[in-house]
Amino acid sequence: MEHPINILERYWKFTAFKPNQEAIINAVLEGEDTFALLPTGGGKSLCFQIPALVKEGICIVISPLIALMKDQVQQLNNKGIKAMALTSGISYSELDTLLDNCIYGNYKFLYLSPERLQQELVQDRIRLMNVNLIAVDEAHCISQWGSDFRPAYKNITLLRQLQPSTNVIALTASAKPEVIEDITKELDFIQPKIFKQSFYRPNLGYMVYHENDKYYRIESILKKYSASSIIYVRNRKLTLELSSFLKSKNITATHYHGGLSNDEKDANMNAWLNNQKQVMVATNAFGMGIDKPDVKTVIHLNLPESIESYFQEAGRVGRNGDKAFAVILKNNSDAVLVKNQFLKVLPTVNFVKQVYRKLCSYFQISYGEGEYITNDFDFNTFCKTYSFSSILCYNTLLLLDRNSVITLSKQFKNKVTVQFIISSSALFNYLETHQELNLIVKSMLRMYGGIFDHITKIDLKRIAEKASVTESELINALHELENNQIISLDLAKTDAQITFIQPREDDKTINRIATIIEQQNKLKQQQVKSMLDYIKNDTVCKSMQLLAYFGEKDVKPCGICSVCASTKKESKPQDINTIKKRIIELLENGDLSSRLISTTLNCSEKDVKTVLKLLLEHNIIAITQTNTYKLKHL
Ligand code: ADP
Ligand code: MG
Repeated sequence: MEHPINILERYWKFTAFKPNQEAIINAVLEGEDTFALLPTGGGKSLCFQIPALVKEGICIVISPLIALMKDQVQQLNNKGIKAMALTSGISYSELDTLLDNCIYGNYKFLYLSPERLQQELVQDRIRLMNVNLIAVDEAHCISQWGSDFRPAYKNITLLRQLQPSTNVIALTASAKPEVIEDITKELDFIQPKIFKQSFYRPNLGYMVYHENDKYYRIESILKKYSASSIIYVRNRKLTLELSSFLKSKNITATHYHGGLSNDEKDANMNAWLNNQKQVMVATNAFGMGIDKPDVKTVIHLNLPESIESYFQEAGRVGRNGDKAFAVILKNNSDAVLVKNQFLKVLPTVNFVKQVYRKLCSYFQISYGEGEYITNDFDFNTFCKTYSFSSILCYNTLLLLDRNSVITLSKQFKNKVTVQFIISSSALFNYLETHQELNLIVKSMLRMYGGIFDHITKIDLKRIAEKASVTESELINALHELENNQIISLDLAKTDAQITFIQPREDDKTINRIATIIEQQNKLKQQQVKSMLDYIKNDTVCKSMQLLAYFGEKDVKPCGICSVCASTKKESKPQDINTIKKRIIELLENGDLSSRLISTTLNCSEKDVKTVLKLLLEHNIIAITQTNTYKLKHL
């Protein structure tokens, strides 16, 4: 049997494992059901890929997103490893051949969407395969307590029946206790080997400050710590606005959001990575895979949607172990903003019904039909046709995808950019000899003022309308202008594809998932509430609050967060009522001993004991068997 480290070096050219990777790989190789909890970017893929390469046979990987699967298959193929993904849009006979290849063709990896497991053909063939490992990537999708819940993940238990003696590895970055419990149960794990690092980051100070003038506060933080920083803001517009503000204050800054071209993204990211720019102002689109060691501050101008997202974004600070700060700036408008941004955009069951019905009529699907029919889809036209709010409609399509009603083939990417790269007089000379382009060019000039000066995003549909040509005629014309070096052109494909994977049954289709929709909406509300509780609670150490959320209870105050720092400053005697209030708040996060209560609150054990006695007498708290105190819920 080849040693895992050799495989790591040969195929990946890495010289050492990341934390926990080797232990996880060994557990898998020993045939254990294994639970790998690693942060995003922690290297989860290798934890199943390496054991699968060590052993004979094929590894079945369940993954929620087609894009993720294709990406991994591509990377494996580039290393000369045989891997395939069964996504939607494959005909029955093709499927037949592909599955045969998995049995006889020395394939090492078969990536499957959970929906595929429902197909009998797939089940029959898996039974015949020499499966060496079942990997469930993004395993939190199995849990209704996770925000990416995909009911089809429940099909995975079928794999257990088809391959009863094969061990399973579940991989996720999500550490909420309810989620972990769900995964363990759903995957039928008996005494799994669970690998989980503590989320405690001793060098990281979590700060929450109330601040009416947030820009001013940001400026002073960045001048005090003039080192690498990320600032998260609510929307694309603010990335520009705040980075310009910082520049005006002589702080070097750049920005990043999902709407930038790939070139802009790369350029801005690199300027920040190599410290030409101190500050990256970004939406939450920024950060995946970023491993910059010397980030000193991560500042949130606006609240994230959940503690999970916050923890991930804040966690990009201080990777080199130096003292670092994650700061939230809050004021009275935040609660409203966060609700508008994250809760008002949740589609209700009725709205989902409307969109689904319109989707069916848009594609002229008759009742009872539509299964496995794929259509090209222009999202903007669809929204406009039925006057749907685009964000609500987008969330609805994602929801339908997660619940296996449709499959969306890729993210919407609606971008064509143009810039004229010759002078206007040269352009008019050119048009003299190219009359057929006259109307198109002039339409563009009328509609987009700065198109000579900068790269401009254009709307193909509107220009085509104005110039009375079809969209494909317009695209041909743009290509001609590009070939003649009149314009620079970036033509990203605009279409998404939608595959219906259930026959149309109107409301019945949606009624089947109605409880899931409602429950997921409730979950989002709870997540926002937890975030608001976190910024409100100024009694309990911030680090302890975050860790408690992820199920870590026996931790001590960090000593450096905004709460710890202010209690240190106070440390004068406190009156009984304050201590009482603070103890109750503290116990809301879990049971504690009197010692831990007094260190956390930074007051004498004697005072704490006096108050505890009072609370016991008033039946507000109780003593547990392990001599800790717990809150009584009346
Ligand atoms: P996750 O799924 O946990 O988010 P990935 O498996 O996608 O993480 O890995 C994240 C990145 O880390 C990838 O670019 C991967 O090549 C890299 N990586 C994984 N293991 C190692 C290692 N042992 N040494 C260096 N880089 C690694
Ligand atoms: Mg991954």
